[in-house]
Amino acid sequence: MAYFDHAATTPMRQSAIDAWVEHAGALNPGGQYKSGRAANCALTDARESIAAALGAQPTEVIFVSSGTEADNVAIRGLYRTAVKSSGLTRVVSSPIEHAAVLETVKSLGAEEGAEVKWLPVGSDGVVADAAVLDEPAAVATCMLANNETGVVQPVAELAERASRVGTAFHVDAVQAVGKIPVDFHALGVTTLAASAHKFGGPRGTGILLAKRSPAPLPLIIGGGQERGIRSGTVDVASAVATAVALAEAVEEMEGEREVVDKLRTKLIRGIIENVPETTVTVDGNVLPGHVHFLFPGASGDAMIMLLDSKGIEASTGSACSAGVSRMSHVLDAMGVGTREGMGALRLTLGRTTTEEEVDFLIRELPAIVERARVAGAL
Ligand code: PLP
Repeated sequence: MAYFDHAATTPMRQSAIDAWVEHAGALNPGGQYKSGRAANCALTDARESIAAALGAQPTEVIFVSSGTEADNVAIRGLYRTAVKSSGLTRVVSSPIEHAAVLETVKSLGAEEGAEVKWLPVGSDGVVADAAVLDEPAAVATCMLANNETGVVQPVAELAERASRVGTAFHVDAVQAVGKIPVDFHALGVTTLAASAHKFGGPRGTGILLAKRSPAPLPLIIGGGQERGIRSGTVDVASAVATAVALAEAVEEMEGEREVVDKLRTKLIRGIIENVPETTVTVDGNVLPGHVHFLFPGASGDAMIMLLDSKGIEASTGSACSAGVSRMSHVLDAMGVGTREGMGALRLTLGRTTTEEEVDFLIRELPAIVERARVAGAL
């Protein structure tokens, strides 16, 4: 098997598996007795380690169930906080967000009376104009790195502009954390979302970083755990495994980057040389190991199926709903045409990617694209 979908999820790091197994028997971290204190101690260590890795205070670390939950809690919660305190109902977002943000923002518009304004995006996949941030809003949000193109956004600048008019700013850093340096306070944002399974941690654990003020009003209420922002008994084993994975990802970031950068360069060269009419969608400020191709006229879905039949796992990068493939909303926002956009292929490398996998892909892809172009013409 050759795995080229590290942006979707990553294999768990052995250190994280070991930490998870070691703490799988942890009891209630809220318990006022010995086993509770032991669980709470492990949780406190995990919180401190995550805070140190992300430039935050330990009290700003909130454990949640996923990146999706972190985005929902932050955006909906900050919106409610603002509506309650100032009556503001304006929400600013970008059209290239992951569904976890996009659908949340749209639902605030459709169900809670928010007036949604969009940051325009240029053909390079970067937010092109931030003027909509100059008017106060309940909350503004923009991702740190895009999950389809891998493009890194100027979040610190955007957050600074929003803060000038007192707007709370949420950043979806799910794709960036563990791959590029991320510093919560240096970014100047109010809240930040990360997800453990993107950096070799367990699936089903998210991190929400949340400043003291303004804090998001909770969506899940109950026992008041996690500063009352996310009630529910915390899964200590997953929290510890997340902290271990993140510490290792940060420590090994430079070395891993060097390896994946070399493989990425080889991959791009091999594909451009061997597949006619190939475009690298953006090759500017993108995440390490992330490459997005356009093969005009090819069917993206056919490419994924044909690759899978050869044991190569990859993605078009955009979600399809109910089996109907559509042009990606990200490429659409960048002004990519349908013939190009329907032939998109996202290949994401990671710390476990080998040169053999890259060579295998370079050998197999030309014939696959040719067949996918026949399918695309039907
Ligand atoms: N945000 C971005 C940018 C993502 O790429 C993803 C997952 O692909 C998410 C949010 C959702 O994260 P999770 O899978 O932990 O819910």
